[in-house]
Amino acid sequence: MDNTRIKTKIICTIGPETESFEMLQRMAGAGMNIARLNMSHGNHEWHQRVIKHIKTLNRKIKFPVAILLDTQGPEIRTGRLASDLDLKKGSVISIVVRGESDPEETSIHIDYDDLISTVLAGDKITVDSGLINLEVLEKHDRMMRCRVLDGGVLKSKRHVNLPGVRVNLPAITKKDRRDIEFGIARDVDYIALSFVREAADVLQLKELLGNKAGKIKIVAKIEDEEGVNNVNEIIEEVDGVMVARGDLGIEIPIHTVPTVQRRIVRSCAEQGKRVIVATHLLESMITNPLPTRAEVTDVANAVYEEVDAVMLSGETTVGKYPLRCIDQLVNIAENVEKHPGLRFVSKLNTDNDKQKLSLAAVELAESLGARGIVVITRRGLMADLVCNCRPVYSDIYAFTNVSQARRTMTLGRGIRPFRIAFSQDPEKTLQTAFNVLKEREGFQSEEKVVVISDVLAGSGKIDAIQIRHLPWTFFAEITFFFKALPDLA
Ligand code: PEP
Repeated sequence: MDNTRIKTKIICTIGPETESFEMLQRMAGAGMNIARLNMSHGNHEWHQRVIKHIKTLNRKIKFPVAILLDTQGPEIRTGRLASDLDLKKGSVISIVVRGESDPEETSIHIDYDDLISTVLAGDKITVDSGLINLEVLEKHDRMMRCRVLDGGVLKSKRHVNLPGVRVNLPAITKKDRRDIEFGIARDVDYIALSFVREAADVLQLKELLGNKAGKIKIVAKIEDEEGVNNVNEIIEEVDGVMVARGDLGIEIPIHTVPTVQRRIVRSCAEQGKRVIVATHLLESMITNPLPTRAEVTDVANAVYEEVDAVMLSGETTVGKYPLRCIDQLVNIAENVEKHPGLRFVSKLNTDNDKQKLSLAAVELAESLGARGIVVITRRGLMADLVCNCRPVYSDIYAFTNVSQARRTMTLGRGIRPFRIAFSQDPEKTLQTAFNVLKEREGFQSEEKVVVISDVLAGSGKIDAIQIRHLPWTFFAEITFFFKALPDLA
């Protein structure tokens, strides 16, 4: 199976069911483009093991699997319980902000010091992704009484949301800092910042990234009302946005999530930024071998929206069918991508000259019916600009000489990234790219492509578009210089 036959990219969260080298290899073969490390779970030792597996794998496979480190963010969680607690609907329980939960007295510990001062009587507290709902009845010094509105079995360390309440925690917590430093030291490709509420949160991350800013790409997770309200200023500061529908569906009225998703996807398309749709895409496949019809339609809608990537969470961390989930995404995307999408890109902001040039290259390629747009790029910027134009027919074949730039291009819809050696002679660089297209992508001699680059002219200052026909080649393939190079992890 050609795991890369679709334009939409697939992000898989790695967990206990998928942590082994063999499983990661099979997932890459099935179509995983990016592995997500969720820092809310696992310790650094565990994440280090997964990173090592992926780097080893990347030396062997055609397209490398990029690594996205997802911070926990200012999350609130319940404490550890000696055993699960059955919370009955209508019962009254105590919540304490210090000390461990005490199952005997049905009191629950929540790890947020300002809890009592930030909520009011009548407010709702949502636990475990909305499965358990509580209403605040009365507040005391470090304890409050709550009625159970929706009961359920509470396990240790469950996620707590306070819908509509501004949580008084820093955008980047101490744990996030440690995790981000861990990621920087291991050259992860993307950092996803959780609960981004305003652009200033992203600026803090850029400061932390230091000289890695720009190399490690930033994804802002939009997961509450404030993030939604400030989404345009946030988009300006980041490389991409994740519509984090898990928390979003609790923090804002759940019936508004589809329209918010569409608004965010549209804004990213217009501002030329990457966008990921995440959470509950194939939730039922955690236990079932097949998705529901509604899940298939949800994935299809994201593909119609021409998002860059769709993301699996529980489906690939603890689910029984991680490989089948990837197969489903590939099949759905392959079918939907045959049809015109919603083309939010028609309002793409083309204020800058390079973006205009990229649009011209895409229009030219599409009007010629060219199968490929060849981008020669060092940092991946030009490939991003071409990707922003969302070519329908042509794929984007991006050639860089930098491993990390190659991996960070992975997220872009329709980008097929390669690493080659660049020559002093631009024409030789192009010949190498053409050879790779023939050798690795099945292109034929004389096949037409559109080439766009600011590298080819040598000075790095002259942008150029060319219509080229792939040459006849005889001996060139056997020289090292003309080959695609593996990932340098
Ligand atoms: C989400 O809330 O949808 C999400 C992706 O974030 P997390 O899994 O970190 O809660």
